[in-house]
Amino acid sequence: MPVFEPPIKEEILGGGLVLLEEMLGDDLTPAKIARISYLSEGDEEANRKLLIKLLHMKHFSPFEQQVFRFKIEGIPMYIGEQLLRHRIASPLKRSFRFTSPDKGTTIEYTPDSLNKIVHIPPEFFNLRESHIDNKDELIQDIINHIRKSVELYQKLVESGLRKEAARTVLPAGLRTSLYWTINMRSLMNFLEQRLSPKAQWEIRELAKAVVRILYRVVPLTIDNFLKISGLEKYYRE
Ligand SMILES: Cc1cc2nc3c(=O)[nH]c(=O)nc-3n(C[C@H](O)[C@H](O)[C@H](O)COP(=O)(O)OP(=O)(O)OC[C@H]3O[C@@H](n4cnc5c(N)ncnc54)[C@H](O)[C@@H]3O)c2cc1C
Repeated sequence: MPVFEPPIKEEILGGGLVLLEEMLGDDLTPAKIARISYLSEGDEEANRKLLIKLLHMKHFSPFEQQVFRFKIEGIPMYIGEQLLRHRIASPLKRSFRFTSPDKGTTIEYTPDSLNKIVHIPPEFFNLRESHIDNKDELIQDIINHIRKSVELYQKLVESGLRKEAARTVLPAGLRTSLYWTINMRSLMNFLEQRLSPKAQWEIRELAKAVVRILYRVVPLTIDNFLKISGLEKYYRE
């Protein structure tokens, strides 16, 4: 059984970070808990077999007893919005009513540095295939556009406008952070939807980072879930 030494960190391709800070239960917890149905007992090998059987039978309620608290840092606001649509989870998000985009950091207007504050599409870092041919010119346009937004925001705040109102001029790709507590059942639903190629590239990369963490703490569960659900190919691609 893997030893859990928090936090467990995984970077998100394109920017951002997922940290697992706390966990309730271990890889075999759902199997141990499911035994209440028959008041049965089992050794580790029997519990491993039972866990796989539960996944095959789609008997998912025991997986609600396995809970993860993630800290997700530096994701674009619109990916945060997609994450918040998953109602069976408990999020708590950074507030741009009370914080400025440059809090705790200095904004430098180079692609790599700016990408830490505002998400720049992965196409411009060649992380994703594209047919954009004037990339050098466009990345400069993006940087200038973001610079104008941020400078106008700063001017509005310095002029006395509330931060919560001044943020109206900030770019949609502004990066945010949140805590996200979710149980394994709901996480499986999340992965089913967000590892799929139908989901946006950015949230797929976030889902892949979550899976890499799960492989470190609940390898039997995640490996069998991905195989049984047919999602393994999407995780590996
Ligand atoms: C590719 C893709 C495109 C999307 N496009 C859009 C879009 O254009 N617009 C948009 O608004 N959303 C969109 N979504 C979000 C999507 O509709 C879901 O809101 C989101 O993915 C959360 O899924 P969920 O409801 O299963 O998860 P959760 O909210 O975590 O719910 C988990 C499960 O609990 C049950 N449940 C929760 N609440 C209820 C309820 N009120 N009634 C009955 N059962 C409930 C359901 O079985 C649900 O699957 C998109 C999602 C994906 C993956």
